Amino acid sequence: MALVDSYGRKINYLRLSVTDRCNFRCLYCMPEDGVSKVCHQEILSYEELLLLARTVVPLGIEKIRVTGGEPLVRSGIVSFLKDLSEIPELRQLVLTTNASLLEGMALPLKESGVQRLNISLDSLCPENFSRITRGADLSKVLAGIRRAEEVGFPVKINVVAMRGVNDHEFLDFAALTINKPYAIRFIEYMPTQQDSTWESRVISGEDILTRIADKYTLQPVVRGEMAGPSRDYKIPGALGTVGVITPVSGHFCQDCNRIRVTSQGMVKNCLFADAEVDLKPYLRAGNIPALEEILRKIVTEKPGKYLIANKEQSHQPFSMSKVGG
Ligand code: SAM
Ligand code: SF4
Repeated sequence: MALVDSYGRKINYLRLSVTDRCNFRCLYCMPEDGVSKVCHQEILSYEELLLLARTVVPLGIEKIRVTGGEPLVRSGIVSFLKDLSEIPELRQLVLTTNASLLEGMALPLKESGVQRLNISLDSLCPENFSRITRGADLSKVLAGIRRAEEVGFPVKINVVAMRGVNDHEFLDFAALTINKPYAIRFIEYMPTQQDSTWESRVISGEDILTRIADKYTLQPVVRGEMAGPSRDYKIPGALGTVGVITPVSGHFCQDCNRIRVTSQGMVKNCLFADAEVDLKPYLRAGNIPALEEILRKIVTEKPGKYLIANKEQSHQPFSMSKVGG
């Protein structure tokens, strides 16, 4: 029987984090000195991750997004992805990456059966990119994106929009879609780390679209099946699209179809839910009936909505690299 929560939402999408390590230190994602190291035994092995995936797909999970931390820094990731792609009935296998290692890995990833990549890129200016990522090299990321295109990946680029950080670059990103078939999506900055100045940093999706529409005409794009929470537009004649994802200003909880599992095997039914359940004991004991039961329970308990901007609702600070974005 499919996974359906108590609000009638069908849960068919798993975001699976394979590591909490990362070679970047993005301002909005993790503290400058990184996150505390987790011992090896606390991280799910590939065998355990596969057992989990093979358990959830027959329960109705149709799409798995592999994420992190930076998934491409975990050794053995390509053969793990190949094993995932061979799970019968898994309709979509996709990956989120900062693209820093993509130049060398795009082809093996394509061959492993990954269907799409979401690439995080918050600036097109080398200095600003280095500031946001605390030291990363934009040229490596751009080379990774080029290679991804060459091997035939459709390219989606996620830009975390932050006032005073990269809002002066919105039009440059929009202009990129004119000659490149990229889907560029601006994501409202979320206060995961409970930064006290977060509200002054957030730019709403509406404001982003207004700024772009000051220069370009934007035509709405019809949403596809399993399109996700992005509202997309096209500049007339452009090869690509530009869109907004608005978790802060226009929460999309009513359509939420996802659960998350962290690299330490904690299942979360909402990004902002403090409650999580440790799947490691069930995975390590190979106890599939108990694993299925706990997954059904966590889905049933999925909250109806979480209003990020509501001061009466609060959550523990967390690093997105630990949860998987
Ligand atoms: N390292 C990979 C990457 O950056 O694409 C995958 C993991 S990262 C945690 C997944 C996504 O979460 C990225 O697109 C990142 O921009 C986004 N993210 C992290 N912290 C965020 C925040 N505070 N608000 C909005 N998006 C955030
Ligand atoms: Fe690393 Fe991705 Fe977080 Fe940036 S957003 S620090 S690349 S996990």
